Amino acid sequence: MPEQIGLYLHIPFCKSKCSYCDFFSGAAKEADYDEYTEKLKQAVAVWGDAAPEKVKSVYFGGGTPSVLGTERLCDILDTVKASFDITENAEITLEANPESGRSLDFAKLKSAGFDRLSVGLQSANDKELKTLGRIHTLDDVACTVRLAQESGIDNISLDLMLGIPFQTKESLKNSIDFCAECGVKHISSYLLKLEKGTKLYSIKEQLALPDEDEQAELYLFAVDYLAKLGYKQYEISNFAFKGYESRHNTLYWQCGEYIGLGPSAHSFYHGRRFHFERNLQSFYDNMTVGDGEGGSEEEYTMLSLRLKTGLVYDDYIKRFNKPLSPAVLSKIQSFARMGFMDADDKHACFTPKGFLVSNTIIAELI
Ligand code: SF4
Repeated sequence: MPEQIGLYLHIPFCKSKCSYCDFFSGAAKEADYDEYTEKLKQAVAVWGDAAPEKVKSVYFGGGTPSVLGTERLCDILDTVKASFDITENAEITLEANPESGRSLDFAKLKSAGFDRLSVGLQSANDKELKTLGRIHTLDDVACTVRLAQESGIDNISLDLMLGIPFQTKESLKNSIDFCAECGVKHISSYLLKLEKGTKLYSIKEQLALPDEDEQAELYLFAVDYLAKLGYKQYEISNFAFKGYESRHNTLYWQCGEYIGLGPSAHSFYHGRRFHFERNLQSFYDNMTVGDGEGGSEEEYTMLSLRLKTGLVYDDYIKRFNKPLSPAVLSKIQSFARMGFMDADDKHACFTPKGFLVSNTIIAELI
């Protein structure tokens, strides 16, 4: 049994649907928010009573949790605290939309326990934002970040997207500069993925999408420029000032266990992976779908290599009571000679160039 776990709560509502989004989320009314809040609190109470482990991180994700408003969010967090054994210094993150500065009471959220905010900026370029179907302005983001900082929430992350149609190195640099000027301590920077069924996918032929080489250039530029500004890469897509790495997401990459509640939320708990389907009723009926055993050697290797700390050989031995096989070690050495990995006798990790082809290399290793 794990000593400490994470808790993820999915809030499946958004003000409007972004053109690239494949998450289980959609627009809803106040009455839906009330109903969902009650059902989520019931689920939190049921699962919390059955989970004796300490919880070291809580993540309100979505969707856009901030649409629920301050009162409902505090109400849910109170139930979480009453039902689970939350550690004193637990990281408690709220994903918020860029306009939430106008509607949320950050001081109240802070005193309820929220200590980290994650905001979807995506880009500081109007044309790029429009293509993504985002409805916010840069003033919205700057205002939300400032109000949160003034209330004492200084652990703030902004999401940036790479590979947006029309994006150039110059526009990406401006977006990164905007984040730095806001004074945020953490930046997530994911490559745009065109998912089937999204609006963007249906018009992909008409879009000036960067090709693979251009995407690689944007990624390498971002890694380099973010480092110059003090944002150290600690995961393939995540960058932070020292001490501000996301503890919740790091738990996923370290193959730690967590409970996910809400439609489409995934869990890895007591050695098993399972999820709730992408509909409200299955969640309300507490019906999970099994995904089999988790935490295998392959899964651990794959997840650890997402982190800049990489695969630490002693940790692997502690977990599986055996070292990595000589065949895998020899492949790691050859990828290191090609410049895709850094490796010594204690660990192996990807270089920025290696992160770009990490899926292919990991498939070779496991
Ligand atoms: S705000 Fe986030 S979850 Fe909601 S539609 Fe946009 S990308 Fe999807």
